[in-house]
Amino acid sequence: MSRKKVIAGNWKMNNDLTESVKLVNELKEKLAAESVNCDVIICPPFTSLYEINKIVEGTDIKLGAQNMYFEENGAFTGQISASMLKSVGCQYVILGHSEPRSIFGETDELINKKIKKALSAGLLPVFCVGETLEEREKNITNDVIKRQIIEGLKNVSEEELEKIIIAYEPVWAIGTGKVASPQQAEDVHAFIRNLIKEKFSAAAADRIIIQYGGSVKPENAKELLGQKDIDGALVGGACLKADSFIGIMKGC
Ligand code: PEP
Repeated sequence: MSRKKVIAGNWKMNNDLTESVKLVNELKEKLAAESVNCDVIICPPFTSLYEINKIVEGTDIKLGAQNMYFEENGAFTGQISASMLKSVGCQYVILGHSEPRSIFGETDELINKKIKKALSAGLLPVFCVGETLEEREKNITNDVIKRQIIEGLKNVSEEELEKIIIAYEPVWAIGTGKVASPQQAEDVHAFIRNLIKEKFSAAAADRIIIQYGGSVKPENAKELLGQKDIDGALVGGACLKADSFIGIMKGC
């Protein structure tokens, strides 16, 4: 099966409202003049989603959020629900990113609850997994990825899996400038695809989009995206400039 590549931009905690509007307008304008062979998702901060949705509505740029909480509403100060994200035009939500895992203590169990909630609310999860440098050096990368995938996808049906993108993001490559080699990334992607085959089915494994994330730039995108099991990229730093984000898309 040929899978259409998906390039997603994770803006992280960057860009206030004015800066967000400027960046997305530039991206929209420049993309309209290009023909790129991939789907495009942007995930700005919560505070910019409502305005950005108005700008990207009707274009090929899809909107996502960077996290959410699994409860519907109530006394959860500082949290954002799935339905709130839907109400401002989000289609996607990043879940299980290594920053909330490591900085805010998000566990596999919590991430699983968020994935289940996102699916039931009609949001499409971009579910991130990845090992730390210490785990890679101990040769337990596959064990860590397996645990994150099995726990994160607990009680997820094959039908629900069709709505999920997996992003393999080695923690040691995120924001460090140290990109995984195409072969290192491909090995883990093939491992993940095989896990999906074992847990779900060959058809599910064939269908699922598995993005690579970790210091992707226009200069390294083409080779990474040329690997058999790499179906796109989740991009941090390089998505904050329209030209470099588009440069990555051109590697598809
Ligand atoms: C990310 O935050 O998901 C990421 C991949 O960041 P960067 O591209 O900056 O490494």
